[in-house]
Amino acid sequence: MNKFIPVYEPLFDGNEKKYLAECIDNGWIGANGPFVQKVEKEFAQYCGQKYGSCITNGTAALDVTLKSMKDMYRWEDNSEIIVPTFNIISSVLACVYNKLKPIFVDCENKTFNIDTEKIERHLTKNTKAIIMVHMYGLPSEADSIKQIAEQYNLKIIEDAAQAHGLEYKHQKCGSFGDASTFSFFTNKHICSGEGGIVLTSDEEIINKVNYYKNLCFTKEKFIHYDLGQNLRMTNLQAAVIYAQFEKIEKTIKIKQDLGNIYQDLLSDLPVKLPEKETPYAKNNYWVFPIIINDYLKINSKELATKLREKNIETRPLFYPLHKQPIIKKLGYNDNINRPVSENIYNKGLYIPMGLTLTKDDMKYISDCLHQILN
Ligand SMILES: *Cc1c(COP(=O)(O)O)cnc(C)c1O
Repeated sequence: MNKFIPVYEPLFDGNEKKYLAECIDNGWIGANGPFVQKVEKEFAQYCGQKYGSCITNGTAALDVTLKSMKDMYRWEDNSEIIVPTFNIISSVLACVYNKLKPIFVDCENKTFNIDTEKIERHLTKNTKAIIMVHMYGLPSEADSIKQIAEQYNLKIIEDAAQAHGLEYKHQKCGSFGDASTFSFFTNKHICSGEGGIVLTSDEEIINKVNYYKNLCFTKEKFIHYDLGQNLRMTNLQAAVIYAQFEKIEKTIKIKQDLGNIYQDLLSDLPVKLPEKETPYAKNNYWVFPIIINDYLKINSKELATKLREKNIETRPLFYPLHKQPIIKKLGYNDNINRPVSENIYNKGLYIPMGLTLTKDDMKYISDCLHQILN
C-alpha cells in the first residue's frame, strides 16, 4: 500500500521559526506586535491597497467588512448582496449575521467563478454590493464586475482568500474591491493555521474595521458606544504570515509546477481539468479540481471513496450555497436552481495539491485515477 497522501500540506522552509523565536524572545506576542504592523502595511502595499487590518480569520474579515460598510453607507436591514453560490459559506454568514440578504448567482463552468452575465438579472433596487470571489486559482472577471458595480452604484467586497499573489490582467487580486479580504488558513498560499486580513484604500472603512474587531474601544478607555468583538490577530500568527509572505512567489511557482505536471499526467482521462489560463490570467492552482465527464456513471463521492481506499485524500467541491439546509431553513431559497454549480458539485472533487507533493506521489495518483476511470 502506498503511503497516505493528504490533500494539502504546508511548507515552512523560510523564516517562520526565526520570527517566532523573535516574538518569544522579545515578548511581543499580542496584537500590537511589529509583525502585525508589517503584515498590514506590506501586504496591503503588495495588493495595491493603502491600509490593512489583521484579523482572526477570513470569515471574520468578511463579517466585519460587511458590518463596517452597512454602517457607513446606512444600508437597511434586508438589503441584498450578490454572492456566488459556488462558494464557501463565509460570505453568507457575513450577510446573515449583519441582517443582509444573500442573493445567489450561478457560476460558470470553465473557471468556477461567478457568471457575470447572470448578475444583472438578480439586481433589484435593494441591491447594495457584490461579493467577488476568486475560485480555486483563477480570478473572477473583475472588469465586468466593476462595470456592473459602477452602472448600478454597488460596492464591491473582494474575497481573495484563495488568491494571494494571483493576477488579473497583471493586477493583483485584492486590489479590486472597495474592501478586500484574505484568509491565512492552513491550506492557503500564505498560512499561519488561522488568520485573515481586510484591505482597503478607504480610511473610513479601515477605521470601522479596526473599531469593530477590537471590542469597539474608543479613546475614552473602557467606555463603549457600540457592540464589538475581539477578532484581533496575535503577533505569533503574524510572524508566520510574514515569513510566508516573503516567499509567496516561490510558493506560487511550486503550485504552478505541480499543476502543470498534473495537466500532463491526466490529460487523457475522461475528466475536465482546470483551465491552464484564461485571456486575463494564469492559473496558480490553489487546488486542482477535476470534473468527471457526464457520460461516466461514477459520481464524485464514489470516486473519492475509491481513491481513499488507495490512501489518497480528496475533498468535495463546494456544496452550492442556495442548496444548504440552513439557507432553506432561513427562507433565502425559494426552490431556485443553479444548474452549473449543482453539476460541478455532483461530478467534481479536488486531488492532493500540497506543497510537499513529490513527482512519485503524482504519478501514483495518476495511475490510480486511470485505473478507476478507464
Ligand atoms: C478559506 C476561505 C474563506 C474562509 O477563511 P477562514 O480563514 O477559513 O475563515 C473565505 N472565503 C473563501 C473563498 C475561502 O476560500
